[in-house]
Amino acid sequence: MNTCLICESSEMSEAFRREGYAYFRCRSCGVLLVDLQLAPAEVFSHYSESYYEAEASGADTGRRGYPSYRNARTSMEASFVDKLDVVRRHVSSGRLLDAGAAYGLFLLTAAPHFECMGIDVSEYAASVARSEFGMNVRAGDIEHTEFPDNHFDAVVLWDIIEHLIHPVEALTEVHRVLKPGGWAFISTDDAANWLPRMLGSRWWALGAPMHLCHVSKQGISIACKRAGFAHHEFVSDPRSYGVAEVIKHFGVSYQNAALMRFGDWMQGNPLGRLVFHITRPEQFIAIARKADVSA
Ligand SMILES: [Zn+2]
Repeated sequence: MNTCLICESSEMSEAFRREGYAYFRCRSCGVLLVDLQLAPAEVFSHYSESYYEAEASGADTGRRGYPSYRNARTSMEASFVDKLDVVRRHVSSGRLLDAGAAYGLFLLTAAPHFECMGIDVSEYAASVARSEFGMNVRAGDIEHTEFPDNHFDAVVLWDIIEHLIHPVEALTEVHRVLKPGGWAFISTDDAANWLPRMLGSRWWALGAPMHLCHVSKQGISIACKRAGFAHHEFVSDPRSYGVAEVIKHFGVSYQNAALMRFGDWMQGNPLGRLVFHITRPEQFIAIARKADVSA
């Protein structure tokens, strides 16, 4: 990997290898990138039912994903209420696109205030969003949508940028479909933060070929400018987690069967069903705005 996908610097050096994938750090903007040797279709094929519902799909938890996206609904919706607050501080109504909508749970939260649409690369997730949750989510690639120019008042990308093969192209597409003065909201991890740097190849967020592009705040700044955004800022990203879900998530991340069993046991325990709120040091929301031509 010679060139940084985000800032186009050639100051790339191999940071470590994990599970057959080489990770490169950009010394210029701080992003951590997977040297991807797979075709997009092969990457997209991983977002099947087993990615969202690893438990229900049997023993194949080797593919990183959610033990059960359905079972995480309560804590996810609590996080989405907080995220909707962040969105509505900037834009309170209009057309909203969730890019990487999964089951459409954020749209469900946002529906009282916005005309909601979603897109997700997973045919499976988009069909669950439509059939189980009644949300208007289509299957498709965020880099190449069929939405008209200047269409949305807000686009959210919750924990999606790390999954993208061409993040700057995706943000350019988001910029295209936003109305002048429209807002984009991007939540992700900061790979240049002390915690991921300290954990190195043991960082739980690593998970190629699903997680490919771990940005930094500097990297997001550069990517937003390259995509055409006129302004951006960062805010903190408080989240809600269920105790048993977190334990099982670590079980999946680190392929640890004992943790998975402990998580299962905790799921049946009142303590395991507790939801706690935390703002992690490495997580942030970037808020970017398309120039308003009338301003
Ligand atoms: Zn860079």
